[in-house]
Amino acid sequence: MSDQQHCKDYLTQISDFIDGDLHPQLCAQLEEHLQNCENCTIVVNTMKRTIELYRVSTEPQEIPQDVRARLFKCLYLDDFRK
Ligand SMILES: [Zn+2]
Repeated sequence: MSDQQHCKDYLTQISDFIDGDLHPQLCAQLEEHLQNCENCTIVVNTMKRTIELYRVSTEPQEIPQDVRARLFKCLYLDDFRK
């Protein structure tokens, strides 16, 4: 079994998922996975909360790619480096 690898495959899509840019088919797969995976659910919730905080504290705009990348990398390491 390689659940972590499986999760990583999904986590690479979470950024697009949150933006609503993810292909509908992949989106459905990810949502199904989230229902069975607490790990990925936590990552998604954390990402959403962080993005919302960012949006209310600044002008409405996209998070810069470097901020997003740092956040994503940080979450990644916390959840999967163990
Ligand atoms: Zn997962």
